[in-house]
Amino acid sequence: MDISVVIPLFNEEESLPELHDWIVKVMDANRYSYEIVFVDDGSKDKSWKIIEGLSAKNKHVRGIKFRRNYGKAAGLNVAFEAALGDVVITMDADLQDSPDEIPELYSMIVNDGFDLVSGWKKKRYDNAFTKNLPSKLYNATTGWISGIKLHDMNCGLKAYRRDVIKSIEVYGEMHRYIPVIAARAGFTNIGEKVVQHQARKYGVSKFGMGRFIRGPLDLLSISFVSKFGKRPMHFFGSIGMLMFTIGFFAALWLGVHKLWIVLYEHGVAERVTASPWFYIALTSMVIGTQLFLAGFLAELIARNSPDRNTYLIEKEIGE
Ligand code: UDP
Ligand code: MG
Repeated sequence: MDISVVIPLFNEEESLPELHDWIVKVMDANRYSYEIVFVDDGSKDKSWKIIEGLSAKNKHVRGIKFRRNYGKAAGLNVAFEAALGDVVITMDADLQDSPDEIPELYSMIVNDGFDLVSGWKKKRYDNAFTKNLPSKLYNATTGWISGIKLHDMNCGLKAYRRDVIKSIEVYGEMHRYIPVIAARAGFTNIGEKVVQHQARKYGVSKFGMGRFIRGPLDLLSISFVSKFGKRPMHFFGSIGMLMFTIGFFAALWLGVHKLWIVLYEHGVAERVTASPWFYIALTSMVIGTQLFLAGFLAELIARNSPDRNTYLIEKEIGE
């Protein structure tokens, strides 16, 4: 099978028939063998009924329905497991992404050898203040922290070589960072294609202000886990060691200094608690010890993780 089109959706009943017909038109015009995988993420409207109807009249349509709303990333993950195509193309269900982009995206994977091609909504039809501006900031920050520089990291329209989606896992709200996840798994040949964008025709956006808090937190988690997930002690231990050392030497200096005054200068030393260094020494040693403990606990957890020795092997030769 050439292409799996994966569409996560939540309450998008008005858009589905139109989207389906448009995709079929593109697939037939290019003679692709294909499937369309709709993942109904616990919709409360008639979305599932419509998917059933589409599936009854078009055998290329598959549907998966969640019992409740789990989020876009969950929908993508389940569809990635189910997808059969050599190239997997994801798109939003709200008709903001255009199926006319599919042939070019497909060709970039198959002919140009990209692992992943991300859409870039260069001209974007969303609210300037709640979407476009934050998105620019978000892409710049993500590029800076992750080293993956894309103009539109979270574009719903993306194409993947089969290996990629079979090797990665998207959970929580990590759909925002799939290129980073893919790159961390070793799929670094990532391309970008300028895509047409439209204003939302029906329904409303499903992502509110919460994304401004959860997005950055997820970025921190991803960066941390990909770097130290298998060796957490190196992170906690190095900061812990630094803090403890500062505290230890500060305390040592305080003691030695006091002894020196008493023994050699025969003076009356002020109490150690009068010096700010006393408090610095105390907190540094306490925090340093805490970090070590956190490191040991994290290391125990990492050692028990079932994938502590899971690596993606690209090629092998010999018996
Ligand atoms: N979506 C989903 N589950 C959710 C939220 C959204 O499957 O919990 C789908 C939604 O139906 C749409 C896509 O994810 O197909 C993108 O959502 P939306 O268009 O609301 O995001 P925006 O374009 O406003 O960023
Ligand atoms: Mg949308």
